[in-house]
Amino acid sequence: MQNLPIAIIGGGLSGLYAAFLLEQRGIDYILLEARDRLGGRIAVAKSSVDQNASRQSVDNEKSNDGFDLGPSWFWPEYQPQLISLIEKLNLPRFAQFEDGDMMVERTANELPVRTQGYQSSPPSMRLVGGMAALIDALYARLNPTRIITGQIVKRVIKTDHYIDIESECSAEQMTAGQITTYHAQHVLLALPPRLAASNIKFEPDLPQPLITEWQETATWMAPHAKYVAVYESPFWRNQELSGSARSAIGPLTEIHDASLVEGNGALFGFFGVPAHVRQSVSEMELKAHCRAQLVRLFGAQAETPTAEYLKDWAQDSLTATPADASGSGQHAVAPNAKPNIGAWQNCLTGSASEWSDAFPGYIAGAIDAAHKAVQGLDLGLSDELSSSASLPNRIVDE
Ligand SMILES: Cc1cc2nc3c(=O)[nH]c(=O)nc-3n(C[C@H](O)[C@H](O)[C@H](O)COP(=O)(O)OP(=O)(O)OC[C@H]3O[C@@H](n4cnc5c(N)ncnc54)[C@H](O)[C@@H]3O)c2cc1C
Repeated sequence: MQNLPIAIIGGGLSGLYAAFLLEQRGIDYILLEARDRLGGRIAVAKSSVDQNASRQSVDNEKSNDGFDLGPSWFWPEYQPQLISLIEKLNLPRFAQFEDGDMMVERTANELPVRTQGYQSSPPSMRLVGGMAALIDALYARLNPTRIITGQIVKRVIKTDHYIDIESECSAEQMTAGQITTYHAQHVLLALPPRLAASNIKFEPDLPQPLITEWQETATWMAPHAKYVAVYESPFWRNQELSGSARSAIGPLTEIHDASLVEGNGALFGFFGVPAHVRQSVSEMELKAHCRAQLVRLFGAQAETPTAEYLKDWAQDSLTATPADASGSGQHAVAPNAKPNIGAWQNCLTGSASEWSDAFPGYIAGAIDAAHKAVQGLDLGLSDELSSSASLPNRIVDE
């Protein structure tokens, strides 16, 4: 296997953006992603896809039809680097629908009440087609031969000459269980720090204080689950309801309009029920409770969605570890991204969202952390290693 300048572990937003920046700089790399799809915590469901398909099977095809099961919102006023990328990639955006009243459920003995809604300021923005539009647009600009899915990195070994990256083919691959070793000079960890510290064996060991720091960094939204109900139209808007609701009863604690910019209406909610309780109930039962809640809040029309999706991130081992079963609700403070002593100094950098000082855990953080990681690479690479001769001419201006 060729010795490459950079290996990126993880094909979520931070991994793909790092790949995009490396191609712009003419630096060769390999990106290894454990799942069979790209995007990581960015995942959308398409209403055209069989709703009975596995909760993990999410189609990232480009279209306007896409309901976010992961992140939905970004804030242009605060996140200039992310917006500049979205604009460069020509991705249309629209404001979260918040016109009208909101519904509030306080206790099980009282009927929900209608109250004045509020408009977020500045408005939360969504991407047409869902957040996966960003992943699709980045991937379309990358050399596909450098992006390998279904590769679970298990071990990273520092030798005198390079770093061995050992990955195992995921269960979905024809070659399930097969180990492949890649060689690189520098590794970018584009997966949450807690996952990296828990699931990847570093040889020699990383400094213990750094490992502890990474293990203690909560992965943003990993304890959570999202439910989406799709309807032919956003019928609540006819009653001048925004689709927003808050509930102290649940199972959904916070509900919002998730309608497409044109076409289907949709409502989504975050579960208030903790991960271990969700795990003890079947998906069918959870969905039935969610539907019943939407009927209480928005009326009988909510009873018959044309599609329903439930994504429980706490049960996804490529996002959450057992330590993520409960969350503090706070964004973790970004840990150190690099070992500052020992064998791993100058050859390993954390580049996932949680490593961003400015926006830890946010999609803007994935962009910020990847940008800083690529900028900070010690590129004392030989001409031979940094050669981009094998890269096709897909590089676009930054
Ligand atoms: C329900 C939910 C709602 C959210 N809402 C918002 C929002 O509205 N706005 C916002 O800004 N942010 C939101 N976020 C956070 C946002 O999704 C993340 O900040 C962002 O997607 C992180 O990207 P990343 O590339 O850093 O990490 P990830 O997306 O977690 O990518 C890491 C990648 O590494 C891969 N991987 C893991 N282990 C291995 C391994 N051993 N080998 C190889 N690959 C591996 C994973 O499969 C994954 O693809 C939300 C997240 C969730 C789950």
